[in-house]
Amino acid sequence: MKIQDGKKMPKYPTDLTQLIAYFKKLPGVGTKTAERFAFHLLNWQEAEIKNFSSLLFHLKEKITQCPECHCITDQQGCFFCQSTTRDSSQLCIVASARDVYSIDETGAFRGLYHVLGGLLSPIDGRTPDHLNLEKLKKRVEDLQAKEVIIALDSTLEGDTTALFLKEQIQSWGLPVSRLAFGIPIGSSLDFVDGSTLARALTGRQNF
Ligand SMILES: [Zn+2]
Repeated sequence: MKIQDGKKMPKYPTDLTQLIAYFKKLPGVGTKTAERFAFHLLNWQEAEIKNFSSLLFHLKEKITQCPECHCITDQQGCFFCQSTTRDSSQLCIVASARDVYSIDETGAFRGLYHVLGGLLSPIDGRTPDHLNLEKLKKRVEDLQAKEVIIALDSTLEGDTTALFLKEQIQSWGLPVSRLAFGIPIGSSLDFVDGSTLARALTGRQNF
């Protein structure tokens, strides 16, 4: 006998629904994309799915934090801290491990990094205690750093954190600089918003 389901919406099998819910946790993934991902996986070879799930399963145990800079690593120290050719007199402070890679890929910086792991955010309860300043201070001293570069987002939280760090680091007697904010390369002034333009003017350089 058929079930009387004329008015009910069709439901995915429970496991598929759960998988979709997990995909939706990823940044930039909405319901439609999550559903596409989940259905796509159903077409994968079993071996491929096993490899994929094994990577996920071991992710947290294999990829850990460098005890020095808090960047990610699958060894004792990290790629950056273990390097013998980097300039330890320059320390660049970033919010996340991913920022380390973004900056390093530019090739414009060859110093060392310090990953904060988040920005100050009173609403989310992220207070200065979360920044672990004692550790940062010790590191700056151990490395005998001569300059600290703050490379944080140009957002309210990024600005608040940068200002706070600047005051702290300057009180340790070190010069602090911050990434310049300006007009994106290749863009016309017409398309740059007022606050970006104002910042670019404030941070103008000799030419
Ligand atoms: Zn490191």
